[in-house]
Amino acid sequence: MDLQLAGKRALVTGGTVGIGLAVAEGLASEGVHLVLCARNEERLLEEVERIKQQHGVEVNGIRADVSIAEDIDHAIAYVKDKFGKLDILINNAGTGSNETIANAPDDRWQYYWDLHVMAAVRLSRGLMPLMKKANGGVILNNSSICAKQPLGYEPIYNTTKAALSMFSKCLANEAITHNIRVNTVNPGLILTPDWKKTATALGKEEGITADEYLDKLAKANTPIGRFGTPEELARFFVFLCSPMASYCVGSTYYVDGGWLNVVE
Ligand code: NDP
Repeated sequence: MDLQLAGKRALVTGGTVGIGLAVAEGLASEGVHLVLCARNEERLLEEVERIKQQHGVEVNGIRADVSIAEDIDHAIAYVKDKFGKLDILINNAGTGSNETIANAPDDRWQYYWDLHVMAAVRLSRGLMPLMKKANGGVILNNSSICAKQPLGYEPIYNTTKAALSMFSKCLANEAITHNIRVNTVNPGLILTPDWKKTATALGKEEGITADEYLDKLAKANTPIGRFGTPEELARFFVFLCSPMASYCVGSTYYVDGGWLNVVE
């Protein structure tokens, strides 16, 4: 299938490792030009150079913390300067949490709200004018199965991802009038560095290794019995970015090895 993505322009937040990197590479392999953003500048520059060499597309990087409004303003200005127009926005940057509601202070809630919700609000609002210039576009919000089916140790993550999913639905209704398709992807267990960090911490509490924790978690929760790879998930993101997914609007798609335990 020709995905008709060659020559399009995309911004991928958190595009330097894990799911964001796999999506960035998936898009680059279809001929999409990229801006990647993340906080760790060294890793950002390394990945920009590597993807450029490997796929022969234009790849740019901007250091930005998307939980901070000023950094987002800089990122928007950078995309405008580099591309003038934009076709694809992947709101991906995010991370898990670990707390109880009884003990978590306000500033922890505020941080995750800014990272998971306001980043998507600010980037969508700031970049939709560039999509209108391109006569349309695609915004994908990387939420989580936890937006629907919470994990017990991370109430702030669950809550802010649920808010992101609702934002995504509201934006979809508004944006489609400008030929901008907005959808949400809810991944299940995808083996990325973020999970390895979490498994190290939670495994220690149970007296088992990170690998043992990950295996136990996958077998206990997913009918498929294993973690997915970032590449398995990225292929779905890339399809949703394509004009071949032209009737996909305002939906939430699960890529979770069967983990969601209700009929949607
Ligand atoms: P990783 O930790 O592997 O990668 C996160 C990426 O986001 C990195 O590039 C990181 O770069 C960047 N990032 C993190 N915080 C910020 C920030 N404040 N500003 C800018 N960039 C940031 O995470 P995953 O790939 O596992 O997760 C990616 C997304 O997918 C997250 O939103 C997560 O909630 C979601 N998800 C993941 C699942 C999984 O099983 N892995 C399941 C469901 C959802 P840097 O540190 O340099 O900023």
